[in-house]
Amino acid sequence: MWDSSKTDQMTVRGEIGGVGRPAGVPPLVAEDHVCELCGISYARVTLEEALSCIEALPGQLRATLSTLNVDVLRVRPEPRTWSVIEYVCHLRDVLATTTIRLHRTRTEDHPSVDPMLNDLRADRFGYSRRALPPLLDEIADMTVGLLRETARFSESGWDRTHRRYPGEDRSARWLIRQAMHETTHHLLDIEHVASRSVRGQ
Ligand SMILES: [Zn+2]
Repeated sequence: MWDSSKTDQMTVRGEIGGVGRPAGVPPLVAEDHVCELCGISYARVTLEEALSCIEALPGQLRATLSTLNVDVLRVRPEPRTWSVIEYVCHLRDVLATTTIRLHRTRTEDHPSVDPMLNDLRADRFGYSRRALPPLLDEIADMTVGLLRETARFSESGWDRTHRRYPGEDRSARWLIRQAMHETTHHLLDIEHVASRSVRGQ
């Protein structure tokens, strides 16, 4: 049973900052993260499983959204929970960001990477106004791009690391598991927000 009280946990706003990490930026989950909401355990997910899951995203997203009432696409069920279109924009950003971070982790020596600042993007870039069809095309292209980048990795390359904020050193393997988790978790978010928005009308 999906717990509506926790559905927004992955994008929770205004968390306490850490050393070098500003308030409002949620901490990165650990290499062995276990999500209490969708049940994914990073340590149990193989690279092959994660890549297969990411590859399936564009088709799953199109199938999920094909039955969506267009009136709920841009509705936030509550002020601090994204609308469906904002979640879709976020998934696009996850694919692009993961591809760049993978590339830099593979080709640079422990690079420092920027935070995504997800809520800032949604607000400053007007994600609630995006058109869905080109967004889905972008997601399809970016999924292919991400998989092309992963094909360049050697076996030992997956242990290479990057850093976001101090203490947030993560491996290339984590990047793939994280992207897989984001896609799976947010598909559930999208289904959930869509159902809540319909009921709220
Ligand atoms: Zn999850």
